[in-house]
Amino acid sequence: MHQPARAQVGGGLASARPEGPYRSFTSSSIPMLPRTDRALASRQTCMAAVFHGAGQPLQLTQFEIPSVAAGEAIARIECCTLCGSDLHTVAGTRNESVPSILGHEILGTIQDVGDPPLRDVQGHPLGPGDRVTWSTAISCRQCDRCRSGLPQKCRELAKYGHEVAEGRCALSGGLAEYLLLRTGTMAVQVDPAIPDEVACPANCATATVAAAYRAAGEIAGRRVLILGAGLLGLTAAAFAKSHGASHTVVCDSNADRLCLATEFGADCAVEWHADLAELRMRLTRACENAAFDLIVELSGSPDAVEAACELGDIGAQVILVGTVMKSRPVRLDPERIVRNWLCVRGVHNYAPEDLLTAVEFLARYHGRFPFAKVVEESYLLSDVNQAIESAVNNRPVRVAIRPLK
Ligand SMILES: [Zn+2]
Ligand SMILES: [Zn+2]
Repeated sequence: MHQPARAQVGGGLASARPEGPYRSFTSSSIPMLPRTDRALASRQTCMAAVFHGAGQPLQLTQFEIPSVAAGEAIARIECCTLCGSDLHTVAGTRNESVPSILGHEILGTIQDVGDPPLRDVQGHPLGPGDRVTWSTAISCRQCDRCRSGLPQKCRELAKYGHEVAEGRCALSGGLAEYLLLRTGTMAVQVDPAIPDEVACPANCATATVAAAYRAAGEIAGRRVLILGAGLLGLTAAAFAKSHGASHTVVCDSNADRLCLATEFGADCAVEWHADLAELRMRLTRACENAAFDLIVELSGSPDAVEAACELGDIGAQVILVGTVMKSRPVRLDPERIVRNWLCVRGVHNYAPEDLLTAVEFLARYHGRFPFAKVVEESYLLSDVNQAIESAVNNRPVRVAIRPLK
């Protein structure tokens, strides 16, 4: 597997990882129950790592695998990568109901389907052996929000990796061996050529980037500035480059991430500075350009949000994606927005079409950009606490968790 990278990379625009209580966690493995057969027919139960509250280690717990009902499916989890939001949850900087099974960047294989079976977003019935990812959001597809193109804001919304682990739908997170795909799940089949670890973030980072660019419209020929070089920023750079942006510029304060950004297609990687005049100077010096047509803010830093709104040229679009935690209010110059015809737009989560775009993008470009390289460590589910500890302390772009073979 990938060798762990030990570079300390704190302080980056995209590295607002939690610290604090999690540092005191034990790093010992959790003993797994003996396992002799992966065939679902012989499996009535499976293991899942359960989150009981911030500052506590996850506890490996046995769950019953439910029998599938109409429109559902059971997926065997092949791999799950830890997202920044999972780390915020375990650190207590993000609230989650407990007990819950975290993990939503999941790749699975269908083991069993109901009658009728769950269908993928293109309408094909799924069957045993299909390799799939699925939208984090489970939507009703009928309410006003679903019908208006925002199923991720469904009035009946449920989310994989964010639900209380109780009842027959308890298996709803990726830090487990199996998961119940509920009716209404938007599943997408995944090209077998995409490595597991590369496919996992498709339903979070990649699909969110696809949603941001869908909100922005045409990319070809535009000068694109990406603020934040975490996995979303790196993916955004690769996406812009492969869709014909005339300039793709990535800004972050973390030198390691900036190096990665150039590997992900950035024409220029510029060290962030919170002072706007200094930042403009750096942008001008590095890429002879400090005005952009499309600015994608992925760091969540309020300073970066303010800069994003100042660096747009006439008619620019500013897409805000990164601010998913409480932030200080930002200063905006409304006259500048008006006179420059700026469009400032928020994008949160994504619709099924964005997941489809994401999977197609990874299928086409996973070999051109080093997506595999950013999943720097891989752990077994029994070592999930070590995985989280490493993700918090060493800050690799992604850490992968796999069930026992
Ligand atoms: Zn996520
Ligand atoms: Zn709905």
